[in-house]
Amino acid sequence: MNTLEQYGWNDFFSNHYNENKNNDFKPARVISLKGHKYHLITENGEKPAELSGKLLYGTDPENIPRVGDWVCFLDYATEGYITELLGRRNILARRQPGNRTERQVMAANIDYALIIQGLDRDFNIMRLDRYIVQITDCGIEPVVILNKEDLIESRDRYISEVSRLGRKCPVYFCSMMSKSGLDELYTQALKAGKTHILIGSSGVGKSSVINALLDKIGLKTSDLSDSTGKGKHTTTTSDLFILSNGSLIIDTPGMREFGIALDNKVTSPGLFPVIEEFAAGCRFSDCTHLNEAGCAVIEAFENGTLDAKIYTSYQKLIREQRRFEIKKEDQKRLGKQFGKMTREAKEFRKKYKY
Ligand code: GDP
Ligand code: ZN
Repeated sequence: MNTLEQYGWNDFFSNHYNENKNNDFKPARVISLKGHKYHLITENGEKPAELSGKLLYGTDPENIPRVGDWVCFLDYATEGYITELLGRRNILARRQPGNRTERQVMAANIDYALIIQGLDRDFNIMRLDRYIVQITDCGIEPVVILNKEDLIESRDRYISEVSRLGRKCPVYFCSMMSKSGLDELYTQALKAGKTHILIGSSGVGKSSVINALLDKIGLKTSDLSDSTGKGKHTTTTSDLFILSNGSLIIDTPGMREFGIALDNKVTSPGLFPVIEEFAAGCRFSDCTHLNEAGCAVIEAFENGTLDAKIYTSYQKLIREQRRFEIKKEDQKRLGKQFGKMTREAKEFRKKYKY
């Protein structure tokens, strides 16, 4: 199997590629996207890349290549130049926060979405159902993973609740604390040559699952990594990577936010009723309960009246939401940089008569 096939290349994509075949343009998959810096996996290993002016400019934002996308690129010595987005099998998209008309593509060409819920307070059968609906709607196969099995006595109640939903998706139990169920995850849930994405609210254990898998079975060692001399490093910082069992995992920071009800502020009423009970005693009415003086929530956390777990999960959500908001600012800035890149791209095209 060649490198591209290992990364999920198949007839679907090669048909799209052959439609506009031009031998100068090679196929590749986007494995990382940081700002406007792309990393591709190509038939000759990893390669940094940038978008062509044509893609940057004058294209629907939905058609900008994202992690998981297959693209065509021109192979220059130090960099690739992405010229085309190949047809997508599916996308995982969400509404732009605060904008109900625009969709934000999170990742593309996904076979399985592993929906993770924790068997603690997080377990919420209706939320699980909503995820399954959303995922199925995207044309992605849902797989349910119920983590933190160490916190429950018996699986029965959960099995019957999930089966009452009447959906035909596999359910796995596991605990990243006791490492139970981990073997089933990588021998059954994760399939070779297929692209998986982990979805779930903050705190359900997505990072723990990925780390446990990396510890247990590790990354596939690429015979190509030596040729670039930096294969290992770039792979571990990728948003799309390949485990030693041949399965592909997309783990983008964006996905971690997928589960948050971003239409709602974490501090909005109803989301954290336990925090709200204490919040009445805060000195400031707009208290975020993170570092303010006279905060009754922090006081309750410190003297143990407020469950530490609830408070940490609250803190974590606020931090994620803030990161998300900062990223939106970044995107606005990027929009301005795009203008500059387009001008550069024009000069580039003139120079190479492309
Ligand atoms: P993420 O936000 O979804 O990436 O979740 P994390 O992997 O950061 O885990 C959130 C919290 O849950 C951490 O404090 C973990 O130690 C804890 N956690 C993760 N897996 C398990 C588990 O199987 N059992 C228990 N009891 N706690 C877990
Ligand atoms: Zn407060």
